[in-house]
Amino acid sequence: MARNHNTPDVNLNLNVRGIQVSATLEINERIKLLHDQGKRVYRFGLGQSPFPVPQVVVDELKVNAHHKEYLPVLGLHELREAVAKYHRRTEGIEYTCEDVIIGPGSKELMFILQLVYYGDLVISSPAWVSYAPQAAIIGRKIQILETHSYNDWRLIPETIEELCKGDPDRPRLIILNYPANPTGGTYKIDELKAIARMARKYKIVLLSDEIYGELHYKGQHVSIARYYPEGTIISSGLSKWCGAGGWRLGTFTFPKSMHWLRDAMAVVASETYTSTSAPIQHAAVRAFQGGIEIERFLWQSRRILKLIAKNIADTMRKTGFNVIDPQGAFYLFPDFTPFAEKLFERGISNSRDLCSRLLDDTGVAFLPGSVFGRPAEELTARLAFVDFDGSRALAAAEQVPADKQLNSEFLKTYCANIIEGIDKVCEWVQK
Ligand code: PMP
Repeated sequence: MARNHNTPDVNLNLNVRGIQVSATLEINERIKLLHDQGKRVYRFGLGQSPFPVPQVVVDELKVNAHHKEYLPVLGLHELREAVAKYHRRTEGIEYTCEDVIIGPGSKELMFILQLVYYGDLVISSPAWVSYAPQAAIIGRKIQILETHSYNDWRLIPETIEELCKGDPDRPRLIILNYPANPTGGTYKIDELKAIARMARKYKIVLLSDEIYGELHYKGQHVSIARYYPEGTIISSGLSKWCGAGGWRLGTFTFPKSMHWLRDAMAVVASETYTSTSAPIQHAAVRAFQGGIEIERFLWQSRRILKLIAKNIADTMRKTGFNVIDPQGAFYLFPDFTPFAEKLFERGISNSRDLCSRLLDDTGVAFLPGSVFGRPAEELTARLAFVDFDGSRALAAAEQVPADKQLNSEFLKTYCANIIEGIDKVCEWVQK
């Protein structure tokens, strides 16, 4: 008998049934619809870098466009060398080319890691949208560690202890992400050391998702791998600091003691994506080599992001929101709870309805806190402050002397959509 292709879900893997397409992609489709209807929209949904790929890296891609060969499954030797050198330079850990695997985005590498490693997935709440669905697709158990807004949504070691002490030998994979999506928060050295101690005590595999590391506003990101080198895998890539999300290139850097995991991942990689795009890998060598052009680009990027983050956080706090000052990346995670009564009167009692109504009424796209693992009825939401022309803003910032602050005039001129969108949100909650 022929299969019925009109009801495809009957043949779906049980782990995939009921899981929706990634929330960030879904919101983009809705924005497009509103835009096509001629409505003004403020794109604070998708976390895509507003900045261009640095010119030196684009140039490198151009001259490498002719590379058409499949590359080794673990990645191009020169790139693995450049990534190892980069982490040696920034963290002072003696990584070598052998410790690195290159993949088509760090997201794919995370999926493969979860596939080959049999431990429970342990993440904090809120956390980036894809960790938990990946574990669910694979069929791993997911453990959530609570964090609190009064503690700037930071993970504290006691919650790890609480989880692990009842079954200390259970294999676990913790993903720690900082600067964090969705809060923009990061950790102090003492806090990293304390988490590292706990991870060591329970022999936890620690995946440190440092994709926003270079977007620490003060350029002072420190990897937890310094304090738990034997159990930490550093995850990084080109998507955020290098503005190249669509190029799809991610990196994992392992300690020697975990090469067995790298090798298991290579088996899956060889049977799925084979290798990462050759021209992109060649160009990425330039990105990881660093140098004056990249440093300037990063310095200006951080300067602009810091200004926007501070301005939005101040405006929202003045209006009455609970929100922490981000210290990196391009996100804020405001809590609308102070307006709960008014919102309730308007029929809004969860974060999904909150974001849906906000989009309909004002054209401003936020993502509900629930997609980051927060309780449905908590009125939190993430905003990605990326709706501006990054090339134009960078060029203008270059003209402002380094010892001068960028000011609100700069914001009004180069980030007008963001200012306008946030004003709309502030008006809307006070209605
Ligand atoms: N981790 C975090 C926290 C992210 O925000 C993202 C992208 N949104 C990724 C990982 C995945 O990045 P990529 O696959 O582009 O390397």
